[in-house]
Amino acid sequence: MGRFEILQDRCRHCAKARRYAPDHICKGADGCYHICRQPQNAEEYQMLLLACEQCPFRAITALKSTELEQDDSRLAAGKH
Ligand code: SF4
Repeated sequence: MGRFEILQDRCRHCAKARRYAPDHICKGADGCYHICRQPQNAEEYQMLLLACEQCPFRAITALKSTELEQDDSRLAAGKH
């Protein structure tokens, strides 16, 4: 299953896309929006894809497979 992230340098804290995936996009204690739950099935994946499309600043992005592999290897190496 794919994963998503919010690019903090693009996010303008408008909360517009959150309504499309409210269980997956959360506002942190730092006041920034984050992906708080990655999709667990195709329906949730589609919700986050829609949120990507609705973000006016293109701050939500789906990680490409090469980025996922790098992310997985970083996690396996204990580098977060
Ligand atoms: S809609 Fe986009 S720019 Fe607005 S808070 Fe969400 S991620 Fe940030």
